[in-house]
Amino acid sequence: MEVWTICLRHIATKINPRSYKTWFEPIKPIKLSKNVLTIQVPNKFFYEWLEEHYITIIREGMRIALGPGGQLEYQIVVDDYKKVRASESLDKKANDSVIDIASKKIKNPFVIPGLKRQLVDPQLKPSYTFDNFIEGNCNRLARSAGLAVAKKPGGNAFNPLFIFGDVGLGKTHLAQAIGNEIISRHDDKNVIFVSSEKLTNQIVHALRNNSIDELVNFYQMIDVLIVDDIQFLANRPKTQEIFFHIFNHLHQIGKQIILTSDCPPKSLNGMQERLISRFKWGISADLLAPDFETKMAIARAKIKDDAIELPDDVLEFICYNIKNSIRELEGVLITLIAQSALNNKEIDIPLTKEVIKHFITHMSDEVTVESISRLVAEHFNVPLEKLHSKTRKRSIVIARQLSMYLAKQMTNKSLKQIGNNLGGKDHTTVLYACRSVQNLMDTDQIFKDTVFSLEKKIRMSLHAG
Ligand code: ADP
Ligand code: MG
Repeated sequence: MEVWTICLRHIATKINPRSYKTWFEPIKPIKLSKNVLTIQVPNKFFYEWLEEHYITIIREGMRIALGPGGQLEYQIVVDDYKKVRASESLDKKANDSVIDIASKKIKNPFVIPGLKRQLVDPQLKPSYTFDNFIEGNCNRLARSAGLAVAKKPGGNAFNPLFIFGDVGLGKTHLAQAIGNEIISRHDDKNVIFVSSEKLTNQIVHALRNNSIDELVNFYQMIDVLIVDDIQFLANRPKTQEIFFHIFNHLHQIGKQIILTSDCPPKSLNGMQERLISRFKWGISADLLAPDFETKMAIARAKIKDDAIELPDDVLEFICYNIKNSIRELEGVLITLIAQSALNNKEIDIPLTKEVIKHFITHMSDEVTVESISRLVAEHFNVPLEKLHSKTRKRSIVIARQLSMYLAKQMTNKSLKQIGNNLGGKDHTTVLYACRSVQNLMDTDQIFKDTVFSLEKKIRMSLHAG
């Protein structure tokens, strides 16, 4: 529909592609009568989210598409599983799961023999909470989807909630935080957190002992099932088949499923297609590598409890250099604190450098023309090779000239060597670049600030040797 397309075109220019894909692509325009446009959204939560986060740009879009009198109406798709749930609850079975477990004597695979626990132990670590899961751009969608799930487990569109991301970015922490939050809000819910490895072992064990029905029954009575690192089930067809039954049953009666993985559903090689398609039923939310500010906030939060003061420049140094994993960031902090306590050393940059070198190998302090151009290219978001090319595109010319200028300032290399290192330019080109940058800095304060912050970043980075 023309009107909605115009509106979308405006919205697309205002938000990032990821949010656009998540929140706007699923919307269907239904009808336009007079100047009232009706759009269909998948569920109520979706509608609330749009109203809360995007109402301003939606209004702008509507004004562009329909003029000042334009109005918007939402239509919400009725959730199918609610119907299923309503009929299921007639026979009350699914609700009283705790009692069920006791009365039916279904073996709880988490009970260590001899310990005789009646209730299901959720297998959660209380220290993983939302409070200490610091929010940043890298995790905002996943975190808020997680909170939405925790508020209304099962009763939302995020089923399953599929959290994915590289190692050390907080998947387990977030999944556990959701579990803990659910328990504190709804003490009648049976929550289980299980790693895929443990689940696989339980299944293998049960198959061997002819107790697979009991195991499946146990899982089918859980209200919130959290399975960590689901990619581990790849190439395990038997385990997948059993998990498929558990998943289907729980999903059908409106129980919440939360999964984590190191990749999105579609990239799960060795996973049955029918499982992959089910993983896509709810929402997939990724955890990205944190930006500098988020790393700083996480680092500050981590040391808060340790009653140890780390100078800001040490924290900055760590956050500049630990790139891709929050687990590594924690590792550096813990080692530093331990070292300083053990040896009664002050925590300063030299000590920090030593510690970090154990975490990231092949690093040195020496600033080189290469390391400068790499950081500059990264900053301007241009491919490194382009700096070496002859391209005259403005953004690349600036990045190239800035690399030359910074190389001149920060290394002992001659104009000639710098030119050579940057794609064989001659020394007059380098000289010209240095002057241009200087001129621009004199007239443009924003550019000057950029140069200074880049200089600081380079000074504080360890470089690939
Ligand atoms: P993954 O399961 O993705 O490999 P984890 O959940 O084990 O990662 O996280 C690694 C470490 O980083 C954990 O100690 C976790 O508490 C911490 N961490 C990750 N993300 C955050 C965050 N946003 N705020 C605070 N700590 C975090
Ligand atoms: Mg994990």
